[in-house]
Amino acid sequence: MRFNKTLDAIKVYEAGKPIELVVREFGIDSKEIVKLASNENPYGCSPKVQEAVRGSVENMARYPDDSMYGLKAGLAKRFDVKTHEVIIGAGSDQVIEFAVHAKADSESKILINSITFAMYEIYARHVGAEVIRTASREHDLDAFYALYLEHRPAIIFLCTPNNPTGDSIDASAVMEFIAKIDSETLVIVDGAYMEYARYKDSAKALEPKTLISTFDNVLYLGTFSKAYGLGGMRVGYGIASQEIITALYKLRPPFNITTLSLEAASAALEDDTFVQMSIKKSFEEMERYEAFADAKGIRFIESYTNFITLCLGEGTDSTVVADALLRQGMIVRDLAGYGLNAIRVTVGRPEENDRFFALAEALI
Ligand SMILES: *Cc1c(COP(=O)(O)O)cnc(C)c1O
Repeated sequence: MRFNKTLDAIKVYEAGKPIELVVREFGIDSKEIVKLASNENPYGCSPKVQEAVRGSVENMARYPDDSMYGLKAGLAKRFDVKTHEVIIGAGSDQVIEFAVHAKADSESKILINSITFAMYEIYARHVGAEVIRTASREHDLDAFYALYLEHRPAIIFLCTPNNPTGDSIDASAVMEFIAKIDSETLVIVDGAYMEYARYKDSAKALEPKTLISTFDNVLYLGTFSKAYGLGGMRVGYGIASQEIITALYKLRPPFNITTLSLEAASAALEDDTFVQMSIKKSFEEMERYEAFADAKGIRFIESYTNFITLCLGEGTDSTVVADALLRQGMIVRDLAGYGLNAIRVTVGRPEENDRFFALAEALI
């Protein structure tokens, strides 16, 4: 059977390996498995969120409120924007998909960092757009600007902090950069880890309100999958001018978020204490990873997120290391597919990190 030609260029996204797969493949007891591969919050979500979800279980037979008013109002309040400047997606992934489909086609170019979130390229390929990448590992906004002038992309993605490297761009540099971009180019600022960056260094904190009140051509993305501990609920959001949000809405399927997910996300916004507590612990534990790397003479990228990228030495192969860890029930992310001899490790709970250090000691 022939399929849409754009599919030929798409490689299926490889998600972090689930615990269930390690149980099946290696016969390891699920309780023995530690997953530090998908940047989830190891402390889970607030108990208040669990309570809210339990309370709405009886509403499962009904479609959710398609206006998503409660969650939009919560986000509008949190970020001091209007509800019509917010769109909710099944993960911020879905908002990326809406944005690419809304703005790009087979004549378009999309400009992204050399190493960045793999889904930008996949969505670009959905519509047959050409992907242009910068050369350097970290976001180099001068290089972005030169490529912008050369290619006039329809969309520019800035991922800050960046996944899978963990580095972050100064907010002032992002503002200066966007000021030089014409208003026909959509600039997408992916802030999936912004809660972490804001906690660590206020100079990295990009405020959606400042972005959208200064620029009409910016879409800010956030998610409940990382700091809020709701990866399994699939809720993300976009914040932008009403013009952009209206365009994205045309691509949204009805009821794209479940009733339970809406409840969970709304309740999560109400318990910032829990989120801040888990961010604090994550950075405390991060110091142990940095000390481990220093002691081993391994280079790492300073991280503004809940993960750390360890760049292995020449004699150590990241795929071999990730495989050996997996066989012992420790799931981390091998970055060989990104052209890096590195592993990305989500900072876990203290006892999970103990386990990582004990296993990694013998391997790297
Ligand atoms: C995790 C992640 C997302 C999206 O996650 P969702 O679960 O779809 O909300 C988006 N961008 C980056 C950089 C991420 O790491």
